[in-house]
Amino acid sequence: MAWPSSLWAETALPLAGVSPALEGEHRADVAIIGAGYTGLAAALRLAERGLRPLVIDANGVGWGASGRNGGVVSTKYRVSLPGVARSHGIDMARRMYELGHEAVETVERLVETHAIEGADFRLCGNLRCAHNEVSLASLTAEAAIMREQFGDRSIRVLSRSETADETGSQDFVGGTLTPHSGTIHPLNYARGLARALIAKGVPIFEATPALAARREGEGVRVETPSGSITAGHLLIATNGYSDLAGASEPVRRAVIPFRSAMVASEPLGDNLFATLMTERRSYSETRRMMRWFRPFGNRMIFGGRGAFGKSDSAAAFAALERAMRRIFPQLEGAAVTHRWSGLVAMTLDSTPQVGRLDERTAFALGYNGTGIAMASLMGARAADLLLGDKPDLALMATARPKTVPFYAVREPAVRLVAGWYQFLDAIGR
Ligand SMILES: Cc1cc2nc3c(=O)[nH]c(=O)nc-3n(C[C@H](O)[C@H](O)[C@H](O)COP(=O)(O)OP(=O)(O)OC[C@H]3O[C@@H](n4cnc5c(N)ncnc54)[C@H](O)[C@@H]3O)c2cc1C
Repeated sequence: MAWPSSLWAETALPLAGVSPALEGEHRADVAIIGAGYTGLAAALRLAERGLRPLVIDANGVGWGASGRNGGVVSTKYRVSLPGVARSHGIDMARRMYELGHEAVETVERLVETHAIEGADFRLCGNLRCAHNEVSLASLTAEAAIMREQFGDRSIRVLSRSETADETGSQDFVGGTLTPHSGTIHPLNYARGLARALIAKGVPIFEATPALAARREGEGVRVETPSGSITAGHLLIATNGYSDLAGASEPVRRAVIPFRSAMVASEPLGDNLFATLMTERRSYSETRRMMRWFRPFGNRMIFGGRGAFGKSDSAAAFAALERAMRRIFPQLEGAAVTHRWSGLVAMTLDSTPQVGRLDERTAFALGYNGTGIAMASLMGARAADLLLGDKPDLALMATARPKTVPFYAVREPAVRLVAGWYQFLDAIGR
């Protein structure tokens, strides 16, 4: 499949040493399907533990969400931790909190350990901007709970004027600042993980879809168009792209692929840029069809989910640009130079899923659009799981993939939900 054009693809450092399509018979300790953060982090963990992994991707390293995302490295989940405390108890919520922070630390450690060139990782904080008073009240209440029940004193509530000064937008009534959050160049990060694997002698084959996988003897066998892999274990790391080819069939119905899109402005003049995103963090807003933005160079990158279907549409990108110019009227004359999108994997309970299909095969997926940090951690934990460890993965641990009921009607259902959320946002609820 074609490589998606994006600002990241245009600015990433080249990656040498990836093998072309796999041909003939290959052997490995662990076969990994998917060369995004999950698969790459798992392979690194396995190599560190002295095993011989082999990675294949139907397309290439970082071709999926890992090379196209917004680069916001966050401790957050789609579910709120106070909500988890109410539904599953405070101990479970505290463990989820710890895992969120461990995930961000994992990215920091991987970038540092492998000296990932061009990752441009900065622990700059995330400012969540409230679009109305009700949302601000809920953000403020959540910050209080984080302080009192989780002992997190780092979150700060910002006033309307502080939020306006920092973002350069009058659209918000206040916000909460989470310092333990960062930004990264997503494709350079993926390529850097791959470079570290290649340096360790781990083979990565691109243009190699896994057509089928089955148990054979004491291990597994993976079939590809021109070859096969015999391995002791298998990891499926296909996330929002799990319906690309047959081998991910057992996990396909666990996730609903949801298109997420980004646009980038042209480099802005220094005077204008100096008034926008002044602390150079990442920013997100509280509307249900959430938009987010961050700087890269002198550009604004602006993203969101919306009425995107199976593929990109000019109308959907135009809606995203309108949203950017509504929040930042000062960008009226600024050209948008890049538009791209990719698939995130939503789950029914908004929580990632990590588990084993049987004693030979594991899976990790369903990051609900916040997977840079969590996929980096869960890839490694899925590798541990395969080797017989029992890591405490809190709500993310599952005995089997939790499939979505009525999967066949997922696309109209996604459009229906998106439309309903847009309506609620429009009427300010
Ligand atoms: C536009 C966009 C913006 C986002 N912004 C953010 C953000 O700012 N912060 C954040 O934390 N998260 C963000 N995300 C989510 C984040 O990118 C993902 O959660 C994360 O990259 C998932 O990594 P992964 O390795 O599990 O999956 P992916 O990176 O999607 O990789 C899956 C790979 O599997 C391969 N594959 C699938 N089936 C097969 C098969 N049968 N055989 C071989 N290969 C196969 C695909 O080719 C693909 O390369 C965003 C996502 C998108 C799309």
